[in-house]
Amino acid sequence: EAKSASRGRAVSYSEALRTQANERELIADRLRHAVDTGGLEVFYQPKVIPENGRIVGSEALLRWNDEVLGQVSPAKFIPIAEERGLIAPIGRFVLQRALNDTKHLHEEGLHTSVAVNVSPAQFQEETFIDETIGTVSESGVSTEKVELEITESSLMDYSDTVLDRIRPIREKGVKFAIDDFGTGYSCLSSLANMPFDTLKIDRSFIMDIATCADRRTIVELIFIMAHQLNLNTVAEGIETPLQKDYLKLWGGTLGQGFLWSPAVAFPEYRAMILAQSVGAVKTEVASALH
Ligand code: C2E
Ligand code: MG
Ligand code: MG
Ligand code: MG
Repeated sequence: EAKSASRGRAVSYSEALRTQANERELIADRLRHAVDTGGLEVFYQPKVIPENGRIVGSEALLRWNDEVLGQVSPAKFIPIAEERGLIAPIGRFVLQRALNDTKHLHEEGLHTSVAVNVSPAQFQEETFIDETIGTVSESGVSTEKVELEITESSLMDYSDTVLDRIRPIREKGVKFAIDDFGTGYSCLSSLANMPFDTLKIDRSFIMDIATCADRRTIVELIFIMAHQLNLNTVAEGIETPLQKDYLKLWGGTLGQGFLWSPAVAFPEYRAMILAQSVGAVKTEVASALH
């Protein structure tokens, strides 16, 4: 009896694996289709100065609404894209689109920055350096308005190649951020010499600051360290006024989160930036008249 029960478990386990493999296969097929037919979209989530709520730029985030699968999260399809060799064309598309949209804003006098996520697999291609520098310079967006985000955990896996390929791009003025900081176990002493401008504190830490003193301590140490190393900080996942106040208290450079806005389509993002610049002009005119 015990034997057949364990055999039953073994069967259902392998069935589960098969189902999972089929699902990944289906996602990979549909993704390939989306890449070929322009089915991927780029949304923008504002990055905000916590003191006054001003939007200074955004993070570009992929959105995919498939006819068959519905909305699929990038957290789900990016790893599959990496595995199936689809990340290079997808990465190219996101960078190109983000630069294009940003260029339009700049032409309207709206000088926002933009951050694009880069997967470690993209760095494996030798052409990555020249291609990235070429794309940014051809876009007409000045390099210091462009930031590339790389997760802390991927830095640990591939650190040598990745760091070597970051440096020449950064020398052109492009900024680099370590994403999801705090979730990996990077060597803190090497952080001082790393080619980065910004630490993005992972949402899981921000989530816990109201309730967990230990996690709060870690966030505070990150703020102190970033300050000492002259690194900007971006706190991810700001959802409550309390989290925002905490960010102000610790002098965090920027915040990003649902308290201000989720990622939105470009026209909506542009409208937010326009509204804020119209507001600023109104204030100027009003004070000039007084
Ligand atoms: P990430 O780079 O850490 O992006 C931040 C994620 O947190 C986004 O999820 C964003 O929608 C979400 N978020 C922002 N504020 C809040 C908040 O206040 N509350 C909550 N609950 N969530 C918030 P998203 O868009 O689902 O992306 C997930 C991950 O997928 C990204 O994490 C990034 O690692 C990856 N990804 C997205 N777009 C791209 C891309 O173009 N290229 C690459 N390589 N990866 C991408
Ligand atoms: Mg990111
Ligand atoms: Mg992140
Ligand atoms: Mg994150």
